[in-house]
Amino acid sequence: MQNNSPSNVDNFPLWRGTGEGFEEDINFDQNHIWHPYTSLTKPLPTYPVVSASGVRLQLADGKELVDGMSSWWTAIHGYNVPELNEAANEQLQKMAHVMFGGITHEPAIKLCQKLVKITPEGLEKVFLADSGSVSVEVAMKMAIQYQHAKGQAQKNKFMTIRNGYHGDTTGAMSVCDPEGGMHHLFSKFLPKHVFVNQPNKRFDESCEEEDYAALEQAFRLNADKCAAFILEPIVQGAGGMWFYSPDYLERIRELCIQHDMLLIADEIATGFGRTGKLFACEHASISPDIMCVGKSLTGGYMTLAATLTTQHVAETVCNGEAGVFMHGPTFMGNPLACAIANRSLELLLECNWQERISTIERQLKRELLPIGNALKVKDVRVLGAIGVVEMNESVDVSTAQKFFVENGVWIRPFRNLIYIMPPYMIAKEDLQHLTATITDFIV
Ligand code: PMP
Repeated sequence: MQNNSPSNVDNFPLWRGTGEGFEEDINFDQNHIWHPYTSLTKPLPTYPVVSASGVRLQLADGKELVDGMSSWWTAIHGYNVPELNEAANEQLQKMAHVMFGGITHEPAIKLCQKLVKITPEGLEKVFLADSGSVSVEVAMKMAIQYQHAKGQAQKNKFMTIRNGYHGDTTGAMSVCDPEGGMHHLFSKFLPKHVFVNQPNKRFDESCEEEDYAALEQAFRLNADKCAAFILEPIVQGAGGMWFYSPDYLERIRELCIQHDMLLIADEIATGFGRTGKLFACEHASISPDIMCVGKSLTGGYMTLAATLTTQHVAETVCNGEAGVFMHGPTFMGNPLACAIANRSLELLLECNWQERISTIERQLKRELLPIGNALKVKDVRVLGAIGVVEMNESVDVSTAQKFFVENGVWIRPFRNLIYIMPPYMIAKEDLQHLTATITDFIV
């Protein structure tokens, strides 16, 4: 068994294992614990983190890394946030969890009130889910139940955009990109849906009529069998970090209305300010029929997501054959997660987040766009607090991560993409450290 991790226990004074030493623990990790998308026979190096505070992750050897990933879009306020710690501690004194069937509690009610208030107009019914993928499953089931209740059970497929990503559970996988996505292997097992081309017009470009031709044809040919269109508004994340024209989203909204399909906006990555608007749908001034939020909902503290919908959809679903919405996970509405989410949303709305995001955006443009001239680079794009460098060739993740860690930053590329979406409170110097290290790696 290859072990790529450092082995001298004396070098890792901060490690507090369960009685085993550092080396044993790391060996156990590599031999027994699956990390996201990893092998247990050819494990890649993992970096042991012992604590995190502000924008810094501390490794077991004492080294500090400036975090460019916000732990996959979640830690928008950074780590070890006093207000969030306090909210968690306070809630722990009352109850960590209680079932949501037949019981309700203040943290869930307050959170849902906030979500209804800040999300696009018309979204006023909330389903609290355990994770992003689950909230997508919930959204898809809602759309199916809606069409069924309308006597249109044949509308049981979904339409979506190529290069999308909506999660790792079965329904969510089925609407991820069928070829380039990470779930190709499962294609024979997954239900087949209708995929339209990724919009090629960029965020700051307008669409011409010809840009909608294939889209309109897909609606004409398939709307009679589709319950809903599901998409990531404006920013396609794990399917390629592509930022597309708001015109395209606006047209899809219109087409869904024309063809009696619901529009599901997956704002799991984009929600809560990341793109410069509180929700990416606002770039196109549209409201979806169903919207999923997650990731940064608890400021990265706990797993929690929500699926919101309209009065009309909720009423139709509940007047249907089942009479109820058919979903109810064990940890639904977990009070601890809800209490933290409440405080996280307050923190976000109290701070001048628009100014922070546009300051980050300006700096990312200043410092990343020049890398576009390098021969190895295919494209550089920035939107809100997201910076993406697309390379011509795939990046070797282990080599890149090693370089980044040695240079004091945490950045995890995938495929040919090196991208960052730092916590919103990152200082100018720390952001510069991130962009300079990316530049050094490439140029
Ligand atoms: N939708 C989008 C747009 C996402 O980016 C993700 C997570 N990368 C998901 C859904 C799935 O969320 P989770 O990993 O919390 O299940």
